[in-house]
Formats: sequence, structure tokens, C-alpha cells
Amino acid sequence: MNKQKCVVCGKGLLRAVTVSREVDYNDDGSALKIQVKLPAEKCSHCGETFFGPQAAQVEHAALCRALGLLTPKEIVALREALGLSQEEFSDLTGIGRATISRWERGRLLPNKAMDHYLRLVKKSKNNLKYLREIAHAK
Ligand SMILES: [Zn+2]
Repeated sequence: MNKQKCVVCGKGLLRAVTVSREVDYNDDGSALKIQVKLPAEKCSHCGETFFGPQAAQVEHAALCRALGLLTPKEIVALREALGLSQEEFSDLTGIGRATISRWERGRLLPNKAMDHYLRLVKKSKNNLKYLREIAHAK
């Protein structure tokens, strides 16, 4: 990473740091607190800390793990292991393309039901075969 000047004070240089942060998650019924270590950049002069898109990804993946859900990387790996594009995966599973894309980019958490569905698809070739039969029967 290139050394960038701080946009707050304009004097210091940014250096890579790891920031420990507590994240609260609340969704109907499930509330939890998790501790995450986020990649960030800190100004050597004013001490301002900057978080980029990478921090959001790390936080999202940590939340997925804490909730027992597949992480974005795991969802991508699952789909790629089947040799399917997002569009093909969408046609096969009936899950919207935009939803798949958001899961894979860490913009949306799958709910429990969808997480179980994905795990079933991943679990056995037979499940995939049944799914193809269902998708083609329509
Ligand atoms: Zn600064």
C-alpha cells in the first residue's frame, strides 16, 4: 500500500494498523456482540483512523461466522465449485441474481433458511441433481 497523506490534517502519512472493535448485531431475536480486528490506516500526525472497504469485508465475514452463516468467500467458492456463473446459479436455485451478488460482495447477510439451502446444494451431487430436475420441470 502506498503511503498516503492524511486528508484530515494534510501533514501526516498514513500507516497500516489493526484496530480492535466491538460490533453489535441485532436482528429479530438474535442480538450479539463480537470483537473484530479490522485493517485500517492511521495518521502519524493527528492520529485519525481511516477504514476502507477491506475493513467492511472483514467485519461482514466475522459477523457471518458468529451467526453460523456461510461467508461471502464460502458462497463464491460453493458456486465456483459447481462451475456455475451467478446467472446459472440463480436459474438453478431460484435465488435472485442481485441477492447472490450482494451475498458474494458482503453487502447482504443470507438468512438462516437460505444458508441451509446453500449448504444442502453444496452437500451432495444428488441434491444438485434434484435441484436441476426441479428447475427444468418449470
Ligand atoms: Zn492527520
